[in-house]
Amino acid sequence: MVESDVMDVDVVVIGAGQAGLSASYFLRRFGLSQVILDAEESPGGAWRHRSPTLTMDRVHGIFDLPGMRKPEIDPARAAAEAVPEYFASYEAEMGLNIVRPHKVGNVRPGFVVDDKWRARAIVNASGTWTRPHWPYYPGRFEGRQLHYASYRGPGEFAGLNVVVVGGGHSAMHVLSEIVGVSASAVWVTRREPDFRPEGFDGREVVALVDERVRAGLPPQSVVSVTGLTYTPVVKKALETGVSRRRPMFTHLVPDGVSWDGEVLPADVIIWATGFRADLRHLAPLKLREPGGGIRMDGTRVVANPLVHLVGYGPSASTVGANRAGRDAARDLARRLSSGKAA
Ligand SMILES: Cc1cc2nc3c(=O)[nH]c(=O)nc-3n(C[C@H](O)[C@H](O)[C@H](O)COP(=O)(O)OP(=O)(O)OC[C@H]3O[C@@H](n4cnc5c(N)ncnc54)[C@H](O)[C@@H]3O)c2cc1C
Repeated sequence: MVESDVMDVDVVVIGAGQAGLSASYFLRRFGLSQVILDAEESPGGAWRHRSPTLTMDRVHGIFDLPGMRKPEIDPARAAAEAVPEYFASYEAEMGLNIVRPHKVGNVRPGFVVDDKWRARAIVNASGTWTRPHWPYYPGRFEGRQLHYASYRGPGEFAGLNVVVVGGGHSAMHVLSEIVGVSASAVWVTRREPDFRPEGFDGREVVALVDERVRAGLPPQSVVSVTGLTYTPVVKKALETGVSRRRPMFTHLVPDGVSWDGEVLPADVIIWATGFRADLRHLAPLKLREPGGGIRMDGTRVVANPLVHLVGYGPSASTVGANRAGRDAARDLARRLSSGKAA
């Protein structure tokens, strides 16, 4: 590393999804210099990669980014286009300093990021989309397997026998679209699906996830705490009659899946089995606890209070992401102005 090639800033923000943009907005309000590094080719974070069949009337509430209301959006438009457009106009209006595409490879102690930037603090907002969770089951399947991250609508499954794995909203999304298009659609889940027509208590959900990350454990999936609320997607899936699920199969076999020898022929398996926080680039900072997670206090990492994780654990939601950005920026402004690290 040649010293003169390294750019010094107060904060490097990693990721320009909703959480990163929110942090960036508030960091500027608090007068801290920053650079935002984002792996995407263009604005929108994970929204850029959602299925083109996911229209605005079927996505969860998108919250306004801080300081600029989102425009009225036609409910029939694809979220993968409309939300990135809003993010793009936000970035332009706010004049944010975003370097893209740049996927951060590693953050070394001293907060040297990819040998190009050196910061006094890090706000990590890298989301989960880049780390689909794909559980292991023994055996070998010779058909096609894909994760929900690659699902692009029902058309390509016409006439095929499909198994959909997963107990969350993404499985519901796939089922709501492929039933009637595919030859068959069988839903399998590890646990009994947790339908909650009455909704959930947001504060309670956040408190449950918060408790885990404060204890240094990895955050569990959002659906394990929210259950399946009756969103438009879930209602549509239920209308198709798929509410009867089968328990998780025990093996993959060349032409399908098997429950201890009882074989269900399948052409495709779609794994709607969730995502994990993508924090591999932070490994050199050694933030993990023996429990496998990162011990948190709000958005702050306990092992290194100049590192904040936003859009992580209890703030991995559209509501939480905005608030987390503000909390992280406020805490860092206080710490960096007083020069204290703990
Ligand atoms: C399938 C799915 C369904 C969801 N459903 C709901 C829901 O129903 N309700 C709800 O409230 N929330 C939901 N969420 C969560 C919600 O969408 C996010 O918490 C929120 O949008 C904030 O996103 P983010 O900024 O944390 O992440 P993202 O939008 O994923 O942005 C992260 C950004 O970081 C970039 N990045 C990643 N790694 C690096 C790296 N190493 N270097 C540089 N950049 C990097 C990515 O390219 C991306 O641009 C869902 C998320 C997913 C994936």
